Amino acid sequence: MTTPTLLIVEDEPAVREMLAFALHQAGYQTLEAASVREAETHLAHRFPDLILLDWMLPEVSGTEYTRRLKKDPNTQDIPIIMLTARAEEEDKIRGLDLGVDDYITKPFSPRELLARIKAVLRRSGADGDQVLEGGTLRLDPRSHRVTGQGADIPLGPTEYRLLHFFMQHAERVYNRAQLLDHVWGGDVYVEERTVDVHIRRLRKALAIQQCDVYIQTVRGTGYRFSTQL
Ligand code: CA
Repeated sequence: MTTPTLLIVEDEPAVREMLAFALHQAGYQTLEAASVREAETHLAHRFPDLILLDWMLPEVSGTEYTRRLKKDPNTQDIPIIMLTARAEEEDKIRGLDLGVDDYITKPFSPRELLARIKAVLRRSGADGDQVLEGGTLRLDPRSHRVTGQGADIPLGPTEYRLLHFFMQHAERVYNRAQLLDHVWGGDVYVEERTVDVHIRRLRKALAIQQCDVYIQTVRGTGYRFSTQL
């Protein structure tokens, strides 16, 4: 299981450090940003599993940034927990219906925050522990076991990560660059055709149990996992 990475966007250094400390203690990786501009720099290199976003930020507000993130197909699925300074603010922002996954009002205890994070990651499938099923295929992240029609399908580590990502985002089409970002990590330099190589290997492995049909090529765009054949 890969460690979830959380992006903290908070302009107050003391709060940001407290958050980073609590998250590291809980075993998460963090990226830290004091502004939306810094957050965007992080996102250009890698996508976090969750964003902790302060509402009151200089220049671009948390609400405005949420709108941007939700408009961009690359980032719209990243869960957001909004940090607000007062309960009244929380109500107000809730009313805007931005598609934020949860809210937490300062001051909050690390324990409370961690519980919220865990719940949101579980819902998004990014805690990595959820058993995923699609058609006759089943992937269990706890045991790293993939089965098709009940029989084991051995996979290499990259093929496993690729399949895990696809099954977490079934029915969505990803181009090669997006797959590189999500599955390989944005910091790694890999050529786009590497994706095709691993897609081929994945299909070959899945074909043993006739599950290769779920990895579909979308002409001119990329690939998707779909059980609609
Ligand atoms: Ca602030």
